[in-house]
Amino acid sequence: MKCKRGRRDQARPAPEIRQDYQPLPDELSILNHLANLYGLRALHTGDHRHVHFSMLPKHALQERPHPALRYNQTCMASYANTTLKVPIAVPQAGELTRRAYAEPPHAYRAPFARDGARVLHAKAFRRLAGKTQVFTQLPGEHSGDHFRSRLTHTLEVTQIARTLATALGLNVELAEALALVHDIGHPPFGHAGEKALDHALKANGLGFDHNLHALRIVTWFEERYAAFRGLNLTLAVREGIIKHSRDYAPAEHPELAEYLLDQRPPIEAQLIDLADEIAYLTADLDDGLDSGVLTLEQVRAGVPLFRGFHDTVLLKYPNAGVRLTISETLRLVLNALVTDLLRDVHARVAGLGIATLDDVRRTPGRIVALSESMEAQRAIAKNFLYLNLYNSAGMEEVHRHAETVVESLFALLMADPTLLPEDHRALIPSEGLARTVTDYIAGMTDSFIEQMWVRLQRA
Ligand code: MG
Repeated sequence: MKCKRGRRDQARPAPEIRQDYQPLPDELSILNHLANLYGLRALHTGDHRHVHFSMLPKHALQERPHPALRYNQTCMASYANTTLKVPIAVPQAGELTRRAYAEPPHAYRAPFARDGARVLHAKAFRRLAGKTQVFTQLPGEHSGDHFRSRLTHTLEVTQIARTLATALGLNVELAEALALVHDIGHPPFGHAGEKALDHALKANGLGFDHNLHALRIVTWFEERYAAFRGLNLTLAVREGIIKHSRDYAPAEHPELAEYLLDQRPPIEAQLIDLADEIAYLTADLDDGLDSGVLTLEQVRAGVPLFRGFHDTVLLKYPNAGVRLTISETLRLVLNALVTDLLRDVHARVAGLGIATLDDVRRTPGRIVALSESMEAQRAIAKNFLYLNLYNSAGMEEVHRHAETVVESLFALLMADPTLLPEDHRALIPSEGLARTVTDYIAGMTDSFIEQMWVRLQRA
């Protein structure tokens, strides 16, 4: 991204630098840091300070950069144009930072930064490396070790969520924590595994939902702390886990009353679903083309959004190789989706007259969405991926195998619970057998479940 500086900046005299300034280590303190450094007028809105970057002198960001600014010194100035001018970011203190078990505040880390770190260090997070996104299971000529796993997908979602939250002036640490945790409840074998697990559970009067399972993981299964079970995450992160992609009816889930099911989640949580969509749409086109399951002609014919940018790239780089034109195109597609989303969030916030976080919570629908025309493009692309990739003839076999493994392992463990590890067996009286078996299977990686299935088949 190129940054343009206004002419007003060039005429401004050098500011006096305050000598009493002590830099803070926290990346979120960038705004405060610059305000302090240049003695700028800062507008206090709750726990957040909104500084107009257009007020900074031309050399402001180069002269004494904050350590955290090194990666993006000059472009910071452009955030002045994308930051929401209403204080709707989740504050770094207050009710939403409440934990189930009270803990003393950290000396220099804010609550949501700690939540992000707790997720990052969780066993369930590391297991995402061994779980299918779309491609890790592809057989033969289509296999490869550089296709997205659920872990690298998660990191791509996190990057997009950070970009969106930073540009909108929202709580970046909260958005990051929510992106890191958003897929932690996924069972092995991608959506085929989830479907099979749900199917097996339905026969026992229960069901499987990866968002609700994620909540079980962070509130119960992860064991890293002597004082409590789970990760003891803040209320905002737990709420975001169950609400990032859908709304649950309060009447159907009385056990989730704590999470204000009749209210919309903060924008930081609403961003995750779209960051997820944008990440996998572009990544799956990339992996689909790279694996040879999709052809360039097919994608050009079926995805107008891709074709438009690909034409632009071909004009600009007539001699570039095919792979490079694909990378350049997907980069432009991703940027177009993110930019459209930013614009539309602005339009919606202004159009609905949203001025506070309470307003966000009271809106009947979600505020974070693509514009109508871009949403139509996204829907065409997604439909194309369903037809030609997720549900393509080659993938059918992979899905059938996943369903067979999950369903037969479920049946085996239900018939003989002594096959469960001891710590899981101990939970049967409180959780019931079917849920305990599900929890065990959902935690497995693709290779673990495969090996266990083969072993039990032989036995
Ligand atoms: Mg995801």
